[in-house]
Amino acid sequence: MSSTADAPTLPKPSILDLSRSDLEREVVDSFGQSRYRAKQIWQAIHRECIADFDAITTLPKPLRSQLSERFTVDPLQKVMHLTSADGSTDKALFRLPDGELIETVLMRYTADGHRKARKTVCVSTQAGCALGCTFCATGQQGFRRQLSVGEIVAQTIFMQRIAMAEDRAEVESRQRDLGSIQGVTNVVFMGMGEPLANYNNSMAAIRAINDANGLAVGARHITLSTVGLAPQIIQLASENIQINLAVSLHAPDDETRSETMPINRRYPISVLLDACRRYVEITDRRIFFEYVLLKGQNDTVGHARKLGRLLAGLLCHVNLIPVNPTSDGPYQRTSRDDAELFQIELLRFGVPSTVRIEKGIDIDAGCGQLRERAIDAEDLGL
Ligand code: SF4
Repeated sequence: MSSTADAPTLPKPSILDLSRSDLEREVVDSFGQSRYRAKQIWQAIHRECIADFDAITTLPKPLRSQLSERFTVDPLQKVMHLTSADGSTDKALFRLPDGELIETVLMRYTADGHRKARKTVCVSTQAGCALGCTFCATGQQGFRRQLSVGEIVAQTIFMQRIAMAEDRAEVESRQRDLGSIQGVTNVVFMGMGEPLANYNNSMAAIRAINDANGLAVGARHITLSTVGLAPQIIQLASENIQINLAVSLHAPDDETRSETMPINRRYPISVLLDACRRYVEITDRRIFFEYVLLKGQNDTVGHARKLGRLLAGLLCHVNLIPVNPTSDGPYQRTSRDDAELFQIELLRFGVPSTVRIEKGIDIDAGCGQLRERAIDAEDLGL
């Protein structure tokens, strides 16, 4: 008796899960093709962002069929895609092959006195998160699973298609030169999940996104954000890739930090800052400290003084982020004036800082908020 008919069909793997060298090995060893073909496939998928093997017309048809039989391209199914009222932010909610939901954000920044115009993608690295920060919608949902390399890279490719289409439309309407098409310029690993808790897949995704024959986002334009997994910060220092490291600090003392970030009980501030000092020694690179301002909780002048004392002398920059309140969360937004007072106090200790521009408030662009809204809608039968 054959049981073949009853066997569940496993979903095909995504070709985006393969590194460039894995792809080359697959194309040469399994398909008997040349390394040149592997390069064509990589460029078609990662640079031109083609979503269907059949549309890669530079490849012979039999190879396109072989690829389709073996792989899919895109592991993401779009569930929701919103654009903020001012057009600066897009947010997408995706369903993964096993039904998990993740979010990705595209933020457009116009040029200002200091920086060029840029398009930044914020990717998720885990479905849910185990670390339970109390101000974070994802943290309140619990951990579901690690994202694969392909699931991380695919988020960037989805937003790259949008960014490139916009650039091309601007060229056609003569708002920009052909030479200035650039698509996504920056990628931040700051969405759902803790990237250093999915270390190998996050690093492999960074290398794919940075690849000169693919999306080619410069390493200095890629930022990995962590809540402070001290051992992995030291591991990251030896990766020999010049990405930016952002550490979510959010409080200047263990008592306050442990209230909102349970990870602080495992790696208290002294252990975390020792790892940060080691990172700076090894890499000679500045660390960015993220500090979400929670009204009345960590945003007073007294908190700023403590933070200044902690960071004085370390090669770093502090990003102050007035919190994006969740619908049922207990926190309120710090006013612009109070944020500026905080900055002035930090400067007394020689610690530079920036108040981060708030984007996408009307489309729930805080981490995990869109998934929360989709589940609310499902609960309501919408
Ligand atoms: S802030 Fe980051 S680490 Fe903390 S719960 Fe949210 S996703 Fe996890």
